[in-house]
Amino acid sequence: MLSGWPSSTNKDLQPYYNRREELSVVDGCILWGSRVIIPPQGRTEVLAQLHETHPGENRMKALALSYVWWPGLDTDIATKVQHCHHCQENRNSPAKAPLHLWEWPTQPWTRLHMDHAGPFQGKLFLVLVDSHSKWLEVHIVPSTSAEATIKVLKSIFFTHGIPEQIVTDNGTGFKSGEFQDFMSQMGIQHICTSPYHPSSNGLAERAVQTFKSTVSKLEGPMEHCLTQFLFKYRVTPQTTTNLSPAQLLMGRKLRTTLDLLHPDTSKRVEDKQRKLMTDKRPRTFAVGDKVFVRDVLHKKWIPAMVIKITGPLSYHVETNAGVVLRKHVDHLCPEDMTTSTGQSEDWGPTTTITPTTTRTNPPQQPPAPPLEPVRHSTRV
Ligand SMILES: [Zn+2]
Repeated sequence: MLSGWPSSTNKDLQPYYNRREELSVVDGCILWGSRVIIPPQGRTEVLAQLHETHPGENRMKALALSYVWWPGLDTDIATKVQHCHHCQENRNSPAKAPLHLWEWPTQPWTRLHMDHAGPFQGKLFLVLVDSHSKWLEVHIVPSTSAEATIKVLKSIFFTHGIPEQIVTDNGTGFKSGEFQDFMSQMGIQHICTSPYHPSSNGLAERAVQTFKSTVSKLEGPMEHCLTQFLFKYRVTPQTTTNLSPAQLLMGRKLRTTLDLLHPDTSKRVEDKQRKLMTDKRPRTFAVGDKVFVRDVLHKKWIPAMVIKITGPLSYHVETNAGVVLRKHVDHLCPEDMTTSTGQSEDWGPTTTITPTTTRTNPPQQPPAPPLEPVRHSTRV
């Protein structure tokens, strides 16, 4: 890619060649647009991540769309779903009646659809979906009573704000005086759908169906499955808008583990981890390593080479002048050491350092903090 495309492209490269104008390289990762192109050895792992909550073929494809790509990705996803008996057993039954057409609110969190679901695995659920963003809330409730519903609604409203309208069916809990009072206190218009056209609250019912079919495929405690499912659902772009519920409601993409695949993110994480490692790891050297050795008497660092390891923390080094010294690891630093945050204390104050001439790559020196006296050393 960097050195030009072969004139006669081979079959394996064709999918990449077709996209050559849209490919870029960031830190050794090839991107197609913002999607990371996953090399063959990583594809099984990424497929497993996309498939984590058995979201089904379409939702897996939608999720992949905003993170990753490789030639034949859609086929691989389809095969994965076909070979998963959980996914096959719990396929959604085909849509029934056409949904009552509500107008799509232009603002998030203005009209919510709400319903109860269950008992399902011995539990009852309150399901809410925002008709603009499709943001989904599913909460385990002890009953369908107004009291239980209000308790959940309060915690949701105090996070996302109070909606203008709530659409429910004619469930007794929703018709009770207590619930009606709560709605008017909050200034919410409560819309009850006709019992003869229950599918007019289809948004909530469809959400219930998605939730049931997904969660029945997951193993483990219900609370855990539920939070896992909700997170995946909220970050998966909707087929109608190509944006995730989180993007539409919160105005940002939520960070997920799939983001770690992107070179910008993974590099930051790696750098941080490497830094933590180098900060904590005791310094070790091998025979032949070029080092700087602390001349304690003259308070300076001089170039030398490790010639013998005499213990876990002690070495014999030979200076450029041919003098052999026995040194503790605290008095050695690797030649290519660039920063030593948190270690400068161990190494004592440094006012002079001589061996700049032997270096081909001088260490980078971060700028000194403005209030500290300027240091005349090549090492911090
Ligand atoms: Zn599955």
